[in-house]
Amino acid sequence: MKANISEIFYSIQGEGLTIGYPAIFIRFCGCNLNCSFCDTKYAINCERWLKYEDMQREVKRFEAKRVIFTGGEPALQDKFMAYFIKNNRNYFYQAETNGTIFPEESISLLDHITVSPKMFAVNSEVLKTIKAEAKSVEFKFVVDENFEEELELAKELNLSPVVLQPIWRNETLKDYLEKVKNIIEIAKEKAPYVRVIPQLHKILYGQKRGV
Ligand code: SF4
Repeated sequence: MKANISEIFYSIQGEGLTIGYPAIFIRFCGCNLNCSFCDTKYAINCERWLKYEDMQREVKRFEAKRVIFTGGEPALQDKFMAYFIKNNRNYFYQAETNGTIFPEESISLLDHITVSPKMFAVNSEVLKTIKAEAKSVEFKFVVDENFEEELELAKELNLSPVVLQPIWRNETLKDYLEKVKNIIEIAKEKAPYVRVIPQLHKILYGQKRGV
């Protein structure tokens, strides 16, 4: 069995509710969307097919017992995710998806799912089904200072918990942290039930691959 994998690396989870945990990242190649703000564009169209055995060997090199499937869009390789989890049971498994494709085979095997809906490509049925069937879930919106639309969607579909992740465009670190503070202030007024969590790995290591 093979999977199309952009990279496998060991770092800390820098985003969302599981921030701070050391984790092994398996980044799949391929995505069904093409967001203008994507920070992993190199993984959208790549072709790098790895055998399951080689991947397993790679993952076992690292100490952590937490695996994060990311991309690209992991749900496009749902069968492979399920196969990997079934054959390597002693890990905590997390996947990060855009919420447009239902991961039918792996949904019941994943310990936590981060769904990051993109407003130009919302699939309400998939979002509702993931929410209903996942063991644990969070809905993470990548936002600038204007996030009314995202809050409305969360309200309409009763999505919770909600994380706002301030998007880091090409600002300096100083300007990015200023944006984070602005978003926190707006959230305090308009949505005191959400968590604002910036991308820790980028703050620590900069905008580069494999961290
Ligand atoms: S859904 Fe995620 S991986 Fe796919 S293009 Fe958008 S930001 Fe990039």
